[in-house]
Amino acid sequence: MDATMAPNPEYTSSIGARSLDLLPLKTFPARPTTPTLFTGKPALFLDRDGVVVWNVTRSDGTVGSARSRDEVELLRTFPIFARAVHKAGYMLVIVTNQPDIARGDLDPYTFATMNEYLLSQVPEVDAIYTCPHDAAHNCSCRKPRPGLIRSAISDLNLRVSDSWMIGDRSSDIEAGAAIPLRSICLPSQTRGQLARRECKATVPHIQADDLGEVLKILTC
Ligand SMILES: [Mg+2]
Ligand SMILES: [Zn+2]
Repeated sequence: MDATMAPNPEYTSSIGARSLDLLPLKTFPARPTTPTLFTGKPALFLDRDGVVVWNVTRSDGTVGSARSRDEVELLRTFPIFARAVHKAGYMLVIVTNQPDIARGDLDPYTFATMNEYLLSQVPEVDAIYTCPHDAAHNCSCRKPRPGLIRSAISDLNLRVSDSWMIGDRSSDIEAGAAIPLRSICLPSQTRGQLARRECKATVPHIQADDLGEVLKILTC
């Protein structure tokens, strides 16, 4: 492994544990920050898979999320979007369910290298909050529950009233609604397939076609 890809020791210490019972519930916020530096800023909470990076189609035809650093592929438009919204005064926080960790299909160390890669490619991302659990854990962080967003709001002292949730599934929108945040739903992006709309209209949200349209909504 390239030395530059080595995970940040500040969070590898908290994710080296193999037993989920040993993982802190808040779960590896990558790039820990000093809250006082960011007092009162609004944030964009972004789902990761299908929104920031492509979903992966496996050889058996099933669609899932990246399980290795090499499978992590950013949407081409995301770095441009990130730069623009950061300049407009938003913090960028990725909030992601990664049940493959609980299922043993994704090693926490590998996951840390993915985060390191994402943060190196898009330095405007301020933090990545992750739920490593499966539904059976009944945790408070797995979306549609709002635990990850709550933790970030508290850690980074974010201004909720001007913040947004952006995702590709109803569970993202519901997690945002629980805060409550306004939400934007994008079609889910899977490499090699047509983008698919997955959000159901269970809670109010805005539908956008792509990150360019999201930018227009946020800055108009
Ligand atoms: Mg998603
Ligand atoms: Zn969780």
